[in-house]
Amino acid sequence: MTRWVMVIDIAKCIACYACFNACKDEFWDNDYPPYSLGIKKLGQTLIRLMKRERGKFPHVKVAYMPILCMQCSDPPCAKVAKNNAVYSRADGVVIIDPQRAAGQRDIVDACPYHAVSWNDEKNIPQKCTFCVHRIESGKIPRCVQACPSGAMIFGDLDDEQSEVSKLVKSGLAEPYHPEYNTKPSVYYLNLYKMTKYFIAGNVVFKDSDECAEGVEVTLTNERTGENRTVITDAFGGFEFDGLDSDTTYRLRITYTGYAPKDLYLKIEKNDIYLGNIFIERV
Ligand code: SF4
Ligand code: SF4
Repeated sequence: MTRWVMVIDIAKCIACYACFNACKDEFWDNDYPPYSLGIKKLGQTLIRLMKRERGKFPHVKVAYMPILCMQCSDPPCAKVAKNNAVYSRADGVVIIDPQRAAGQRDIVDACPYHAVSWNDEKNIPQKCTFCVHRIESGKIPRCVQACPSGAMIFGDLDDEQSEVSKLVKSGLAEPYHPEYNTKPSVYYLNLYKMTKYFIAGNVVFKDSDECAEGVEVTLTNERTGENRTVITDAFGGFEFDGLDSDTTYRLRITYTGYAPKDLYLKIEKNDIYLGNIFIERV
């Protein structure tokens, strides 16, 4: 059996919009019966880029995440569709039948990923089909072909040698919002960039006012006791990323000849940049 999946590496996405434009070019005004009809020229896309800005000056980060139909194995869109207007193929691709789905706006609202758009010119709901018209002739989806940074990987989950299969099995590739329980066929690498938080700062020797390079900084999760240690860089900088919200952490700074320093920090859906932290000689 073949089971198509896509893995998208958020760390590699540079927001060039090549996937977005390739998708538009593939689907605007082009019908691929029986799977899809052309989308509108303006005001409709089958893929979108979500942006997340984190931190505050001077410690700012931005991440981009392409969102498309997740080709769910248990798709809520199919549950509200009447007349079998939404169906799953044996290879896992979910299709909205353009004839049967006419007038069924409920299909748009049923998708928890907001991956279905309404074509008011044709009176139908539409979404990404993994370019099923292309994969049937041995090609990869247009967005994957267009991506210049290799952020999008497409392949067969049932082929144990495929890159996607290895990434999914390793656990590095994760579904977005697994709590929706829809069993997506789109997975993400480095998803923490969109869903988690960081604590960062710079350590400074108070007596010399110099950047404190080589200082040990340990972060401990107060609830689980898990801890991670990093060594400050040439600017005294440190960072812990991938942290949970609604969690208190203890930050301990230690360096020979200087008094240890403890900070207790609670993340509440926010990143924390501490700025300069001064340590003093004992
Ligand atoms: Fe349906 Fe939305 Fe899942 Fe796609 S992502 S299969 S449109 S529920
Ligand atoms: Fe990101 Fe690739 Fe899409 Fe460019 S083409 S926006 S790098 S996923």
